[in-house]
Amino acid sequence: MINKIIGLWLLPWFCLAGQLPDASLVPGGIAILPVGDGTKPAPKVFYHGNRVLVAEHDGEWQALVGIPLSAPLGSHGIDIERDGASSRLDFNVADKAYPEQRLTIQNKRMVDEMTPEDLKRIEAEKIEMARIKDTWSERDADTSFTAPVDGRLSSLFGLKRFFNEAPRQPHNGLDIAAGTGTAINAPAAATVIGAGNYFFNGNTVFLDHGQGLISAYLHMSRISVKIGQQLKAGDRLGDVGATGRVTGPHLHWIVYLNKETVDPALFIGADIPRLAARNQAEHK
Ligand code: ZN
Repeated sequence: MINKIIGLWLLPWFCLAGQLPDASLVPGGIAILPVGDGTKPAPKVFYHGNRVLVAEHDGEWQALVGIPLSAPLGSHGIDIERDGASSRLDFNVADKAYPEQRLTIQNKRMVDEMTPEDLKRIEAEKIEMARIKDTWSERDADTSFTAPVDGRLSSLFGLKRFFNEAPRQPHNGLDIAAGTGTAINAPAAATVIGAGNYFFNGNTVFLDHGQGLISAYLHMSRISVKIGQQLKAGDRLGDVGATGRVTGPHLHWIVYLNKETVDPALFIGADIPRLAARNQAEHK
C-alpha cells in the first residue's frame, strides 16, 4: 500500500523529468542524439555555430537539434565540446513531403496595401522578434509539453502555400482553432520574454523554456502575463483571438530550437489524437 502511494506520487515527477519530444530526422524536425554519459558538467553542443539544447535522459545527455525547414537533405553534423576536447557527430536528414495548399486570389486588392509607416513598423518588429527568439538561457530546459489550447488542428506545420502559383513562406507553426476567449496555457515551465502587439501577428507572447527552446503564441485576443513573469506548466498566458492578419480565431503556435522553427506537434504527440478527433467531429 505504501509502495503504491509512493509510486503514484513519484510517477508525475518522473514523467515530467524524462519526457522528450519525438525525434524526426527531416527538415522542420528534431534530431535527438546521444552526446555523452549523464555526469556533470553537460557537454556543450553546436549546430551551424548555434548552441543546442542538451537534456539528461535515462542517464545520458541527449542533444535536441532543431533542423531548419530549409535544410538540405543528406549528412549534417553537430560539434560536441567536453573536457576540453571537441568531437563531431553526424546524422542524416531525409525528405518529407509536406502537403501543399494552392489558393487562387482573383481580386488583387485582397493583398493589403501597406503605408510607409506600416512598412517601418513591420521592419522594426521583425528585428525585435528575431532578438527575442535568439534568447539563450543556461538553465535546464523543460521539454515536457502539453497542448497549450484545447481546440482542433486547423493547419499543420510545414504546409507549402502558393498564392496564384507563387510560393509563399511555408507554414512555420501549428494552428489550433478554438473560440475567442478560450484559455491558452503554458505548455511547460517558462519565463515570459516577449509580450506585445505586432502588425501581422497581433497580440503575441514569447516563452523561454530554457536553452534555446522558445515558444510563441500569436493572434491572441487578450494577454494576461508580463515580461519577466515565471510560469508553471498549465498557467494561463492569455486567450485565443483573431488579432493581426488572420481570417478567424485560432492560435498560431511556433516552437523554436537553436533559433529554428520546428514542428510543434513533435512536442505534444500524446495530445495530437485528441485534438485531431475534434477535426473529425467538426466535419461530420
Ligand atoms: Zn498559422
